[in-house]
Amino acid sequence: MCDRDSPEFFDEGTPCGVLTAEPLGRPLDYLAPEGGAWLGAFVEVPLGPRRVTGVVWGAAEGIVSRAKLRSIIRVLDAAPMRTELRDFLTRAAEYTLTPLPAMLRLATRVPDLGQGPALRKLLYLGETLPPRMTEAREKVLAVFAEFGGAGLTPGELAQAAGVSAGVVRGLVQSGALVERQAPRDQPYLRLDPRLAGADLTEDQKRAADALCGGLRAGGYGTTLLRGVTGSGKTEVYLEAVATCLAQGRQALVLLPEIALSSEFLDRVEARFGARPAEWHSGVTLSERRRCWHMLALGEAQLVVGARSALFLPFRDLGLIVVDEEHDSSYKQEEGVLYNARDMAVLRAAMNGCRVVLASATPSLETWANAESGKYTRLDLPARFGMNTLPEMRAIDLRAEEIPSNRWISPSLQSAVTARITAGEQALLFLNRRGYAPLTVCRACGHQIGCDDCDARMVEHRFLKRLVCHQCGASKPMPTKCPSCEAEDRLAPVGPGVERLEEEARALWPDARVAVLSSDLFGTARALKEQIAAIAGGEADIIIGTQIVAKGHNFPDLTLVGVIDADLGLSGSDLRAAERVFQLVRQVSGRAGRAEKPGRALIQTSQPEHPVIRAILSGDEEAFWQSEAAQRQALGMPPYGRLAGIVISAPTLEPVFALGNDLARADQPLRAVGAQVFGPAPAPIARIRGRHRVRLLVKAPKTAPLQAAITAWLRPHKLKRDLRLSVDIDPQSFF
Ligand code: ADP
Ligand code: ZN
Repeated sequence: MCDRDSPEFFDEGTPCGVLTAEPLGRPLDYLAPEGGAWLGAFVEVPLGPRRVTGVVWGAAEGIVSRAKLRSIIRVLDAAPMRTELRDFLTRAAEYTLTPLPAMLRLATRVPDLGQGPALRKLLYLGETLPPRMTEAREKVLAVFAEFGGAGLTPGELAQAAGVSAGVVRGLVQSGALVERQAPRDQPYLRLDPRLAGADLTEDQKRAADALCGGLRAGGYGTTLLRGVTGSGKTEVYLEAVATCLAQGRQALVLLPEIALSSEFLDRVEARFGARPAEWHSGVTLSERRRCWHMLALGEAQLVVGARSALFLPFRDLGLIVVDEEHDSSYKQEEGVLYNARDMAVLRAAMNGCRVVLASATPSLETWANAESGKYTRLDLPARFGMNTLPEMRAIDLRAEEIPSNRWISPSLQSAVTARITAGEQALLFLNRRGYAPLTVCRACGHQIGCDDCDARMVEHRFLKRLVCHQCGASKPMPTKCPSCEAEDRLAPVGPGVERLEEEARALWPDARVAVLSSDLFGTARALKEQIAAIAGGEADIIIGTQIVAKGHNFPDLTLVGVIDADLGLSGSDLRAAERVFQLVRQVSGRAGRAEKPGRALIQTSQPEHPVIRAILSGDEEAFWQSEAAQRQALGMPPYGRLAGIVISAPTLEPVFALGNDLARADQPLRAVGAQVFGPAPAPIARIRGRHRVRLLVKAPKTAPLQAAITAWLRPHKLKRDLRLSVDIDPQSFF
């Protein structure tokens, strides 16, 4: 595995530092086992009475005397973690102010790491037929015919045939099936980068050449690939993937909502002749293990994944594509608070690798980095083919007669009717799950809230329950008001997608209506099937939350109606305008992808609002420029830096006490020109029974923010039950 004379090798009995994912803060010293250990090796070590997995991280600290050290139990059967990944985890931990063990945990989330045998038993058809044929046995043999005689594990076989494990065992004993050893994880089929891609347009070709040229030149570089939906960004970055694979290096494509996107996998298969490795929550445990090990061995060329794929053990990563780079799902908001887009750039910069950030509506951060020359910018100005951008128009809600408890204006209604009469599809977009966001008692005015959070319960009629969108708690829909006990006086207020569905069914009784909302489907697979069915034309009207905004291609969709563009505009959130702009532009871009021209109708009560005007005019540069000017004037990101601090505890008093202490002892922050604001109750002042208080640190762009925050927090020990989290570059302020 490793050169025994190198300084990276630890002979049996010599101390070395081992990092585990346990919350100990740093590596601990252990003695190398029989056969030695080497840097990056995955090992099993004793920790108290337990055995845990760790990585040989470096030289021993040498504080504990050698006689007192325990020995590594064994080196695990997994490719060692490369220096590149160890260095990246270290830097990412420093940047996000995350303890290193928590960072390591992100990089080792693979089932039975190194524990499983490298080989496993597979069953094949034997030479003889079973002495006695039964219906169950016939089913088993039929499975082999179906799978072309390929090997299957006993479990897979029993499941595929729908028989008990005993039937399979009986066939093995009789000699009708034989066992053979096979590598546990199959390598992936090779992707062939030499297969021809699409005939690119002039603009696309120019962009692809620039990306491929960057890869050939080698070294680090980040490019913003901007182009409206349908302009061929995917087509272009797949060319860069081809170049990367042809160089023998590995590529990673990050997608938001990857679990829903079989369309993309089909495109990769069409382009390269085989499917890529996948890494996301919808992937089975054995597929995860396969992906992880094969990447480390260099036997997987391309991974398509969610944000956590960034921590995979690539052997030679050459290219990272972050598609829809502005998407808020790249920011992990629980546990380790990191932004996968920013960490992708970090890993690439440390590793001499290329990054493509693709988007129709880039984040202001990325836009500004392109303006300042830190990133290269490539633009795809036009939609591919005959496609023109949808015509965008506002519907001024103040001028429409809408009955109470209705949300579809007469203008929108007649537009939808016209489209479905023409045999086309219409999409109604409302970014609110459930039936109604609020339930009030008409007798006493009480609003039903969550018991554990400072949040209203949302009625989900489909589930027949009230659900808290903060903590997930739910309860049956009550018939009596919990406050005044009046019977049958509870009323829903405001619309969610389920309520909109009801309205649509009443308005268009003969139309086929489909709702797309992440909570209406038990599994990603069910949702994926629904999306495929809709794309195949099995719905006339689609009602959806923001999951419809992301990359799904509905060829017959020619009208998008945005039910409430004002939602989100009023918030105090730094990025409110940016988010509304991105979401509405993106959803509108769903209209008219094939040969049919599309149209987007935006319902709003403030058509003169600058953000709405920018959405309608499509003058994106003007929008970014004005956003940038405002942020710059305030010293806000990306022209200044922020860190969000949230302190929480079951009672309010100690939370504020610590918050006030921190606000007073702000010298380490002032020393670098940073300011602290707060403490103030967080916008959601209680979640899961914990009271929450926020502080906000604002610093000049060049200030050493992490070091200052570390120095500032260090003297304050957290008393029992208190929790403090630091969010560097916060995206949301809840
Ligand atoms: P984006 O990623 O910018 O939304 P896509 O790459 O998905 O755009 O392209 C939109 C559609 O147009 C896709 O169906 C794609 O296959 C097709 N397309 C784009 N460029 C070409 C091309 N040069 N030749 C053939 N089809 C293309
Ligand atoms: Zn709750």
